[in-house]
Amino acid sequence: MSHLSASAAGPPPAVLAEQLPFHDGLRRRRLLLLLICVGNIAISVAVMGLALWSRSALVVLPPLLALVGIAYRGYLHALEERDVWQQLEKAARELNQLDAAEVAAVAIGRLTSMLGADWAEIILHRTATSPAMTYSGTSQGLDEELCRPTDARPARSADAGSAQVFYSAPLDGPQGAVGTLRVGFREFTVLKKRELHVLRTFAYAVSRTMQNARLYDAMCLHAAAKAHEASHDVLTGLGNRALLHDRAEIALAAAGPRRQCALLIVDLDHFKEINDTLGHAAGDLFLQRVGQRILSSMGEAVAVCRLGGDEFGILIEGLPAARHADAVAVRLLDMLAQPVSFDGLHLSVEGSVGVACYPDDASCFEELLQRADVALYQAKSSRGSFSHYRADRDPSSLHRPALVAELRAALAEDQLVVHFQPQFDLQSGAARGAEALVRWQHPRRGLLAPGEFVDVLEHSGLVGDFTMVVLEKAVAECASWSAGSVALTVSVNLSARNLLDSELPDQVRRVLLRHGLPAARLILEITETTMMSELDVVEEVLSGLRALGVQLSVDDFGTGYSSLAFLQRVSVNEVKIDRSFVAGAATRESDRALVRATVQLAHSLGARAVGEGVEDERLLVTLRELGCDLAQGYHLGVPMPAEDLRKALGLQVRRHPVPVPRTAESVRHLRAVVGA
Ligand code: C2E
Ligand code: CA
Ligand code: CA
Repeated sequence: MSHLSASAAGPPPAVLAEQLPFHDGLRRRRLLLLLICVGNIAISVAVMGLALWSRSALVVLPPLLALVGIAYRGYLHALEERDVWQQLEKAARELNQLDAAEVAAVAIGRLTSMLGADWAEIILHRTATSPAMTYSGTSQGLDEELCRPTDARPARSADAGSAQVFYSAPLDGPQGAVGTLRVGFREFTVLKKRELHVLRTFAYAVSRTMQNARLYDAMCLHAAAKAHEASHDVLTGLGNRALLHDRAEIALAAAGPRRQCALLIVDLDHFKEINDTLGHAAGDLFLQRVGQRILSSMGEAVAVCRLGGDEFGILIEGLPAARHADAVAVRLLDMLAQPVSFDGLHLSVEGSVGVACYPDDASCFEELLQRADVALYQAKSSRGSFSHYRADRDPSSLHRPALVAELRAALAEDQLVVHFQPQFDLQSGAARGAEALVRWQHPRRGLLAPGEFVDVLEHSGLVGDFTMVVLEKAVAECASWSAGSVALTVSVNLSARNLLDSELPDQVRRVLLRHGLPAARLILEITETTMMSELDVVEEVLSGLRALGVQLSVDDFGTGYSSLAFLQRVSVNEVKIDRSFVAGAATRESDRALVRATVQLAHSLGARAVGEGVEDERLLVTLRELGCDLAQGYHLGVPMPAEDLRKALGLQVRRHPVPVPRTAESVRHLRAVVGA
């Protein structure tokens, strides 16, 4: 019992050796005692009968009774043991939570009821990412008042109380001591050896889960802080372009002909003069004041953002018709015309406002932004006014439909090419597979990166065909690799819209069959935002893909909002930690802890962790130390044409890619897939 300690205060010891402390078993024990009483009465009656029949027969009684006694005790003991381990197992299963407070609540509740204690507490040490923390409670739940960072916590009144016995066990996890677990009894109590064993075993389970939960909590906080930083303007505290984009995506999804979504872009007309004459500090203050004023006067807006310089964007949803946005623009102009006072000055500023609405004026957010910008340009020509977008005055309105038409031609004329970026095993250094990244060999503009066209594609209705072209090329290439005994995988990116297409699993199945590629060698990468969707069809498509045996990967993990929640919902084979997330891992302890937490999370879900954006050796070494399984990045290999990848990895190409399955494995696989 070297790791357990007990401390007592209060009345002298009472004899508690025979106490039966596992409350949950009490009822059953009482029943047993009743049975024993009944048994004893039966035995007494039998003895009396025996004595009346023949006194000499009584000689056999003592050993017989001793045997019955031993049997009773053995039975009772076995029952107790079973109860205890069943409760422990149940408790350990219930501990499987991701939130530290939930883990604490379950642990404290379970432990107090298992040991019959009056309260329990979990005291956690400070770590690089979490403060020292104490959770206290009883079997009824946590005591909110006492669950605080340890420094800020009021003294527990019971601590100072009179009659208390404490038992404590260290919380030792895979990464060392995490803290201490204590249980307290108001009355003097001596825990039996078995109960102490339970306490110690349970403490170990708690420490493992708690360590993970704390890291995940820290990861969520970090992600939330980063998300706030990434979505807000430092000077004014308003949202930025990224926030506008996110809010608009949601608002646009709910919009329709009778629920117009308006974007108003405001540009201050005299701001440059303020900056030039009063200096930049005054200019900053002025922008802050104007920003606050817009925010407070646009209560109905779903987003008020600073888009840069002296430009602000206001997003309003649910307008019954596009013309209602013009009334908002007039109100905005009136408000801006009121003088702003600071440093004893009263400065009047005028603004110009450009207005565009979805779906009347634009078919997606990018178009809405661009059209509000065009309208602003039109408004600027007459200062202090607003302008609603008019296609007949927009010189660029032909651009987008033209791009869609070009993309249609690109699909028909096979202008899309797929490059491959290798992924390596961090332990063995061996190549494990490659990610297929699309490029467009444009007849005039040369090789275009996905950033230049994927977005337009996703809103064009062509995304289904596009994904199938990339998939076909990637699967064909992968099926042609024969790299000795290693079966390399190929990863293909899916767009959010692909998961809304219930035909997808069947299409994927046909591509695999066509090229004879075992499903497990195809990894489909899906971003978190897509998987967060609660839509039934997404669930259906994902389970259809899983049933095929295809692997699923979460792309850009850490950039979404409810990463953990959805990982609990959807089972994946791989988690790709976003490169913005891993970039600091080599230099900052907090980033390192978060990457480690993600790796542990992936592993606890039975998935592997892939680090993206490995740009130098230091990052590679760090990811290996953090237990990451695979790595991908410019340092290991840039995305390259299929032929270059084959050369780089020394892959032999099968002369005749196998259209029909040859190996026993793939025959079995194909049979399974087609249900033969
Ligand atoms: P992604 O899925 O996160 O792909 C990885 C991107 O990171 C690629 O950009 C790759 O070139 C880049 N990258 C790889 N290693 C490094 C590194 O060490 N440092 C840095 N800074 N970047 C690195 P790429 O090829 O421009 O693709 C951009 C995005 O376009 C992809 O991001 C993916 O979301 C999308 N995309 C690419 N191909 C497809 C496709 O076939 N279908 C769909 N739906 N989207 C695609
Ligand atoms: Ca990807
Ligand atoms: Ca990625």
